Amino acid sequence: MTRQTLDQKLAILSDAAKYDASCASSGSTKRDSRDGKGLGSNEGTGICHAYTPDGRCISLLKILMTNFCIYDCTYCVNRVSSNVPRARFSVDEVVKLTIEFYRRNYIEGLFLSSGIIRSPDATMSDMVQIARKLRHEENFRGYIHLKTIPDAAPELIAEAGLLADRLSINVEMPSDAAVREHAPEKDPGQIRKAMGDVRMRADAAREASYTGRRPPRFAPAGQSTQMIIGADGSNDAMVLRQSTRLYASYKLKRVYYSAFSPIPDSSAKLPLISPPLQREHRLYQADWLLRFYDFQLDEITSVTPDGNLDLQVDPKLAWALAHREIFPVDVNRASRELLLRVPGFGVKTVTRMLSRRRHRMLRYEDLVRIGASMKKARAFVVAGGWTPGGLTDSADLRARFLPPPEQLALF
Ligand code: SF4
Repeated sequence: MTRQTLDQKLAILSDAAKYDASCASSGSTKRDSRDGKGLGSNEGTGICHAYTPDGRCISLLKILMTNFCIYDCTYCVNRVSSNVPRARFSVDEVVKLTIEFYRRNYIEGLFLSSGIIRSPDATMSDMVQIARKLRHEENFRGYIHLKTIPDAAPELIAEAGLLADRLSINVEMPSDAAVREHAPEKDPGQIRKAMGDVRMRADAAREASYTGRRPPRFAPAGQSTQMIIGADGSNDAMVLRQSTRLYASYKLKRVYYSAFSPIPDSSAKLPLISPPLQREHRLYQADWLLRFYDFQLDEITSVTPDGNLDLQVDPKLAWALAHREIFPVDVNRASRELLLRVPGFGVKTVTRMLSRRRHRMLRYEDLVRIGASMKKARAFVVAGGWTPGGLTDSADLRARFLPPPEQLALF
């Protein structure tokens, strides 16, 4: 076999990493090198500025250490039975690439994942070695996100958390049965145990000891996970139920939803086509409602007759259309909780409304000025100088929010 150049490996291993959606970096704490002793810095949020081929925004060097893998997860292009070109970086090659890309200002950090070579411990050990060299030999202070292998020894995961800003462990599928069916070498119980360990270590790192000294930071940007959507028969209600459990049990920063992409020579267990990307988008919107808008899971799923979110309207609008009896709400009197239920009102908009209405009555124009999307909201609110009249109850209200019909191509 001819020896691969670094460029060839990079082409293969960055392409192989694009299927992983969990690369955002929000929540990191600030680290900088203005003391002249380090290299790089990162701000707490929003360091994603580049775009992957499927349109996701990142500015991390996002690679696999290797796409060789001894496991055979049906949904994964890198599974052992897949016939794809393979490559493997050495530890030093990943360190060199990260530093060179960083110095050229191409990236602000590293997102490193890997197929499993030899054993989970051997793979995790190499990944930890990369992070260790970056931090201790290169004095790299940029962002590091390490994908963690749940079967690896707890000591390795513990060291990974001391070196990386964020750890992520993929739950892979919305149910244990689906994990067993599609990823036979993975143990859902072990995945949860590893997430529980990360949570405990992160909690412990936030507590000062009796001497008042703080332990070293452990994955300060938290942990995240990813679920593949549309590879098994789980509906959106099942997906969101799993997310709710994960957020509550492991204090996750994010659950990422990744629409399954059909892969070459795939297993007969998999669907032939990917789910609509809009499904992924609706799941993110519902996830947002659960985390920031005080929605309960049952409220969102109660308006999904077949357990799947409405692809034509967003979940908040779908809920409002099904609960017209509580609308219109008076923006000058309603509670924060009720205002957050109004389609077109975001969290910041509601905060601004509450602060401004202390001084004067809010009029329709004020709502526009403070950022409300009145195209959506106007049927659901009363404001100074505005009442929706019969609009709230009109039979064709839902139709007003649908995208215009498109002429199908004839040929
Ligand atoms: S362990 Fe990871 S890389 Fe290997 S086949 Fe499964 S999903 Fe793919």
